[in-house]
Amino acid sequence: MAVFDRMGDENLDWLASCHRRCTMRSDTLLFHDDFRVAPYWWDAAPPETVRDALPSEVDVLIVGSGYCGLSAAAEAARLGASVAVLDAAQIGAGGSTRSGGMVSSGQKLALTNAIRGVPAERLGRLMRESMASFDYLKRLIADESLDADLQITGRFFGAFTPRHFERLRRQGDLLHDKTGVTVRVVPRADQHAVIGSDYYYGGILVDEYGGLHTAKYHRALRELARRRGASLHSHAGVERIERNGAAGFTVHATRGKIEAKHVLVATNGYTGRLLPFFSRRVLPVASYQIATEPLPPGLMAVLNPGRRMISDSKRNLFYTRPSPDGTRMLFGSRPAIREVSERDAARMLHAKMIELWPALRDVRITHAWKGYVAMTGDKLAHIGAQDGIHYALGCNGNGVALMSYLGARVVKPMLGLDAMPGAFGEGAFPVSVAGMASRLSVPVGTALYTFDDLWSGRVRAALS
Ligand SMILES: Cc1cc2nc3c(=O)[nH]c(=O)nc-3n(C[C@H](O)[C@H](O)[C@H](O)COP(=O)(O)OP(=O)(O)OC[C@H]3O[C@@H](n4cnc5c(N)ncnc54)[C@H](O)[C@@H]3O)c2cc1C
Repeated sequence: MAVFDRMGDENLDWLASCHRRCTMRSDTLLFHDDFRVAPYWWDAAPPETVRDALPSEVDVLIVGSGYCGLSAAAEAARLGASVAVLDAAQIGAGGSTRSGGMVSSGQKLALTNAIRGVPAERLGRLMRESMASFDYLKRLIADESLDADLQITGRFFGAFTPRHFERLRRQGDLLHDKTGVTVRVVPRADQHAVIGSDYYYGGILVDEYGGLHTAKYHRALRELARRRGASLHSHAGVERIERNGAAGFTVHATRGKIEAKHVLVATNGYTGRLLPFFSRRVLPVASYQIATEPLPPGLMAVLNPGRRMISDSKRNLFYTRPSPDGTRMLFGSRPAIREVSERDAARMLHAKMIELWPALRDVRITHAWKGYVAMTGDKLAHIGAQDGIHYALGCNGNGVALMSYLGARVVKPMLGLDAMPGAFGEGAFPVSVAGMASRLSVPVGTALYTFDDLWSGRVRAALS
């Protein structure tokens, strides 16, 4: 195997894809009879169509009905504002109910290149605020008795190579220092206690990490926002926002227009061409997931004994978790540079999943879906205001807790009740080169990101 030492990442990637093609199963063995292209989560709580007439004026108009838009709506209504949330699609059909439902306490900042170039003092505040978003979500769910199936089981970050293992150890130390979370190093020899696989070279375990049911949590947030007085409107895409001097804005949507004192853009990975400032800064990237049929009894206890959230040290990482009831495996990754159909993605993801867990070879897929995450030039989320229009955008695939929190966090400054808060509101929101390229052609932008992955250099020393 010494020959592999001399191979670059691209070649290794190609070899892996050949291997995947050879191990792909025929469709009848792969797809369950009830297979559908839809998030597994929607079986329990589908998105909602609401075609009520739009109000003619509100204090706060929110563009986008994901976690960010809804928690902003709930907070603004709590503070006494009249609020309307408009979505171009069904309420909750965006990234929020398509996600893996992993609830982070801010690890992404320490475990990616996001921290490069960020001054140490701001980094500390970013990490503490990320931690605050985790606490915020837990408190919100507990205080408002939200039905969200939240379970704090921890997360395992697997090392793809021995070098990544060393890097994860260092990053784990940083994470612990800045946020106080419990980080446990898991050497490869002990890995089976955490994951029934030999795929990784050990990893780290973070206890303060959870998982929830994405669509149930969304439904509960809808109920909360409504209970506090906000109105939600589906199929009302915002096409134009006109400034009316100090009075506010006229918002033109596909179903009518609304006068609003304040506008919040909460469109994240679904940010289109509504406002060039945002489309130049946010790159939508598709991420795909599959759900399996219920596993044979006892298998989950071997593959993922702690029912933890699991991901790894690759840029195009695997992320996987059990369904909240512990019966099915959910598995996500980006299957290819170009966007592919969900059915094709399902075949590729299944092949990746059995690289991790060969024991799942004969387990069929019931659901496959995709959603768009919002990548930014500096890999950080941003809140702020541009030309008087507020925004909370760019969670870089880490938005269950963070976008819920930032949505609520941006409300007081928007209503003039507080100065612009916190570390995510500081600093410039840089243009994303990949984001701009994607406006010319989506695959160009996505490919830039993927090549960025490859460029970072990942050689799996395991092959030696
Ligand atoms: C496949 C996938 C897996 C993920 N996994 C995780 C995970 O495990 N953990 C984690 O923390 N994060 C994860 N994320 C990220 C995170 O869940 C989401 O990105 C986050 O929930 C975004 O919330 P949001 O409210 O900002 O945006 P969204 O929920 O994406 O909502 C944006 C909404 O804006 C609407 N919109 C766009 N333009 C307009 C317009 N002009 N007019 C009206 N409406 C408009 C869209 O229709 C959409 O409904 C994942 C994301 C995806 C896609």
